[in-house]
Amino acid sequence: MKVPFVDLNTLNSQLKDELQDAVAAVIEQNDFILGRSVEAFESSFASYVGRAHCVGVNSGTAALHLALLAMGVQAGDQVITTPSTWISTCWAISYCDARPSFADVDPTTGNLDPVSVEKRINERTRAIVAVDLYGNPSRLDMFGELAASRGIALVDDACQAHGARLLGRPVGSFGDIACFSFYPAKNLGGFGEGGAVVTDDPEVAARLRRLRDHAQERRHHHTELGFNYRMDGLQGAVLSVKLRYLDGWNTARRRAANRYLSELAGIPGIVLPSETPGAKSNWHLFVIRTQNRDAVRQRLSEMLVETGVHYPVPVHLQPAYAHLGYHRRDFPESERLATSCLSLPMSPVISPEEQDRVIEALSLAAREAA
Ligand SMILES: *Cc1c(COP(=O)(O)O)cnc(C)c1O
Repeated sequence: MKVPFVDLNTLNSQLKDELQDAVAAVIEQNDFILGRSVEAFESSFASYVGRAHCVGVNSGTAALHLALLAMGVQAGDQVITTPSTWISTCWAISYCDARPSFADVDPTTGNLDPVSVEKRINERTRAIVAVDLYGNPSRLDMFGELAASRGIALVDDACQAHGARLLGRPVGSFGDIACFSFYPAKNLGGFGEGGAVVTDDPEVAARLRRLRDHAQERRHHHTELGFNYRMDGLQGAVLSVKLRYLDGWNTARRRAANRYLSELAGIPGIVLPSETPGAKSNWHLFVIRTQNRDAVRQRLSEMLVETGVHYPVPVHLQPAYAHLGYHRRDFPESERLATSCLSLPMSPVISPEEQDRVIEALSLAAREAA
């Protein structure tokens, strides 16, 4: 019996009838691009994250690109972000012809370190992009104050953090603008690509709506360089159904995370994840650290426990970003995270028996690798 890394089949089969009805309605209405189902989802998701506006797009990457454009990021600007992220965070900066400026991460959470961020702000800095890594909120309260005091924008890459909370507020409600991804394996995932940008500013929201649809002011009248970043009607319909289950799913993930935390405590050579003070992670990923990561991972795979590595190469060391001129040891905490991180099986439907298998296999593998 294999323990899968995520189990989307079981999750989707629980909602099969509801999802099929929602999809059938889109087919009947011929609302394949934007349309009623997307509008309905946008309005529910905006209230879910406590924002006035939500603009649905066709990926988290597109959401980040449009968010930075809407914040006025331009060629030659500098945008501070973390090297410990999925690379889209940085693609979006580059798509605006701006330059990613990296800061190091906090060794306990892997999220951007506020002290390191503050040191990097200069006269060319236009924005900070914080990432809520693994679904654990970064210090969005501190970055919000910092950005406001320096007259720059705070963009939250919340692509992993649907339903997470910080200081009693939903993630998505912090900063000038926040971005989500609905990639199938995220805590809220569609049946294909999807994303959203949320903001309280009505003018920013209106510009985002134009930009995602070829920058049309009205049909065939294009006000600036536009994009085809529209959300599919089918995704809107599927996401509206799934949004109703998100809090329950996150509670199930939290239960599983707490079980891992208590059962794995005390295994030598394993460092367990911790939440930002005042935060409730959505436990998108459960990431431990271990010195002999590759050996441990290999043993787990032999014992049929599927794991992941998020992420093996920090962005400043990716060949695509060699032109920025960063080197090994520039961001030691981020680099340590990359070599030691190991993501364990996690989903709302992971069973106690499956978790027992992971726990048993991991204690064995850790002992062997020590
Ligand atoms: C998933 C993800 C994205 C990109 O989302 P896509 O929908 O795959 O384009 C961006 N940033 C982070 C941190 C992510 O995890």
